Amino acid sequence: MENFIVSARKYRPQNFNTVVGQQHITTTLKNAIKNNQLAHAFLFCGPRGVGKTTCARILAKTINCTNQTPEGEACNECNSCVSFDAGTSMNIHELDAASNNSVDDIRVLVEQVRFAPQAGKYKVYIVDEVHMLSSSAFNAFLKTLEEPPAHAIFILATTEKHKILPTILSRCQIFDFKRITNNDTVEHLQEIVDKEHIKAEKAALQVIAQKSEGCMRDSLSILDKIVSFTNGEVTYQNTLEHLNILDEDYFFKLLESMQQQDLAGAMMLFDSINRKGFEGDLVLNGFAEFIRNLLVCKDPKSASLLEVVEGMQSKYIEVAATTSLSYLVSALNVLNDTEINFKMARNKRLHVELALIKLNFLQQAIDMASDKGTVVKKKRVDAPIAFRTKAIQPLAAVPIPTAVTTTNTPKLYIDQLPVNVQSTTLHSNIPPPIETINTAPLSSKPIAANGGKKNLLDALREKVGAKYDIQEIKEAEGLNIEKLQVFWNKYTVELEKQLKHSAAGTFKIASLSIDSDIHFTVHVAAITAQKFVEQEKLDLKEQLHQLFNNRLIDFSILVDLGEKEDVPLHMRLNSKQKFERIAEQYPLIKELKEKLRLEIDY
Ligand SMILES: [Zn+2]
Repeated sequence: MENFIVSARKYRPQNFNTVVGQQHITTTLKNAIKNNQLAHAFLFCGPRGVGKTTCARILAKTINCTNQTPEGEACNECNSCVSFDAGTSMNIHELDAASNNSVDDIRVLVEQVRFAPQAGKYKVYIVDEVHMLSSSAFNAFLKTLEEPPAHAIFILATTEKHKILPTILSRCQIFDFKRITNNDTVEHLQEIVDKEHIKAEKAALQVIAQKSEGCMRDSLSILDKIVSFTNGEVTYQNTLEHLNILDEDYFFKLLESMQQQDLAGAMMLFDSINRKGFEGDLVLNGFAEFIRNLLVCKDPKSASLLEVVEGMQSKYIEVAATTSLSYLVSALNVLNDTEINFKMARNKRLHVELALIKLNFLQQAIDMASDKGTVVKKKRVDAPIAFRTKAIQPLAAVPIPTAVTTTNTPKLYIDQLPVNVQSTTLHSNIPPPIETINTAPLSSKPIAANGGKKNLLDALREKVGAKYDIQEIKEAEGLNIEKLQVFWNKYTVELEKQLKHSAAGTFKIASLSIDSDIHFTVHVAAITAQKFVEQEKLDLKEQLHQLFNNRLIDFSILVDLGEKEDVPLHMRLNSKQKFERIAEQYPLIKELKEKLRLEIDY
């Protein structure tokens, strides 16, 4: 049985011309060799599997070839080339910096560099994954990299250029390797299957190229795998199966049922996809890519970005034409959000189904938010908008009936409160208005005509009075000093009962004066007394409101420092006043204060 060599090794390019997809680099290198302008240090950057190490090897072989072709390629026939191809050349050293990244590893390398090659012109040192070197290893390397012996050439390769120190970057000639395009990959794969006499559908090779994402090594190993599984018959279907890729036909069907708002159909389709072993995230991912492809072929300018297998382009363009741009963009958004949150979702299946439900009703939502199919910007409010307000009746206008209203004037209440406190006591004598509603049914009577309130009440009372005990709304009463004083004394007694002796004491000596119908003043002698009254204020007001049926009643507390016979002396004087009073009586105290320079603590 013949030894199997993986395609990636078997078909590794042997000269610059066969390197796939990196013409910009191979041409430059060939010219440098031809013109003998070779740098002594190179940095090859680029994604994995695009030919960095391959190019480094070809470079090493070519500069050591004793019989270079006029184009600057190796002859592949001389001793040096043969030993390079056999892997026995002593002029090439490869160091994997990922596993040899210490200072000592670099020191060993630097030691070797000193010795000239036994055969050939150059020794080539390839340091792979050079970004993995420790910073001290980098520093140990710097000197040699800057001034290497004439026979030494360094080729540093990395996938992560940004991790390389600037001091290294400045000492190297930098080559950026490109991702290999799908077309280049497909061409290369085609060459190989032709050489190997393998039957392969082009669509299958395209799928492989897409899956390998610009990495030639991956695409070759995928091809090897499928060839060995399928006995040399590579078809589109078995490639999809082996790569666990969902057939685009499913996505076309999924989109179709969504556009028809056939939620059940979409769910059933997802179920059948799920049964085939495709997990939710794969479906989301595939569907997002499908939508992206549709979006791309909406515009002929971007149609070249469409990367689908041959023969499918026309179908994509056809479907894209019937799908609105706003739907595609919104659907991509929904899918993207769902994919991001997929890991966190507990019920993965429900999570995907939820996205399907959203997509199903997406068109409807867009139609509502848009104008004739094109997405409109949200309206912005620039101009000020009128603010509707309703005037609130000022509290002072709350009716307090007085005797004045007993005349025939239709106005029942007055706005201004009477200044005379006593006059308000007359309110209870208001006779009923002249026009009264008697036995007529309530509904047929105009209410607002003439003194509505009483009439309505009477009517109600007559109608339902027998059944219900209608409480008459008592009319508000103005303050009067006698009633207030009686209340105040009662309140003081209450306070004593509650053992609030200090407060009760204050209440006893406080005097009251009425300022208006709804306002009175409590005169107290000290700030402490004011606080006692203040503490009771809420309760006091509440009781007063009930007593007078008047929620407007309020009072203020005035600290009266003026002389009053019935106020005990100590309650009226502050510390300073007390001191002055004492100093008046006992002048020695004042002298003492002055001699000791004391300050009064007020
Ligand atoms: Zn040669």
